[in-house]
Amino acid sequence: MENTLAPAIILFGSPGSGKGTQAKLLRRCLNAPHISTGDMLRAHISAGDEVGRQSQQLLRAGKLVSDELVNELVRERLLEPDARSGILLDGYPRTLNQAQALLRLTVEDGFRPIVVHLGVDYAKTVARLSGRRQCPVCGTLYSLKTNPPKVQDVCDLDGTALITREDDREAVIRERLREYDSLTLPILKFFREAGVPMIEVNAGEESPEQIRQRICQGLAELGVAGAIEAVSPGSAVR
Ligand code: AMP
Repeated sequence: MENTLAPAIILFGSPGSGKGTQAKLLRRCLNAPHISTGDMLRAHISAGDEVGRQSQQLLRAGKLVSDELVNELVRERLLEPDARSGILLDGYPRTLNQAQALLRLTVEDGFRPIVVHLGVDYAKTVARLSGRRQCPVCGTLYSLKTNPPKVQDVCDLDGTALITREDDREAVIRERLREYDSLTLPILKFFREAGVPMIEVNAGEESPEQIRQRICQGLAELGVAGAIEAVSPGSAVR
């Protein structure tokens, strides 16, 4: 049965678990803007504004920026008109403090939180991230191994030269995984205890399209409007 509260879908998983890729694929079954705090911070850094200045060094080192800063960015973003029908969060929340702030916001603003947990093993993550390239203009992600651009080092969509993000270097990836383990992973327990529904997906084995179908199936089972596509068996809503 369809649930009329606007969904706040939280794409949750370690760096390199495919959150950004799924956020783009999920446009097919969801009418919700993709809100990536990483992309928002990178836009501020490119703009050279105060938020960008505060975050630049931290991003370079694979460290988290302050909870106050990202909580405020997300709070403001949720007030924009396109967020009224639902949102797809990618890379937020990343600490317990952020998770608590988000749950408060969802209650105040009438959203229904749903966690989508993309599980992968870390050895794969390091290989995946160090082979990742991104278009600096449209944000499209490529993987040298599984999803290369048609022409080497050039974006299929707009012809821009692809870049390796600074934080996709191996030492920084390992630091990001450490941060994930100590600060971010405990949030799952918090969401479970708060009764937030959780769609568990093993994101290490299947193709991005198969993973997308599992997520859409889980969302359809939870009554999220739009997520009613052809689905394959086996997705787990817990
Ligand atoms: P992402 O693109 O999501 O991998 O984020 C890239 C970097 O941006 C992270 O390594 C952090 O430095 C910063 N960042 C993004 N989202 C958050 C967040 N929710 N809390 C703190 N730092 C963040």
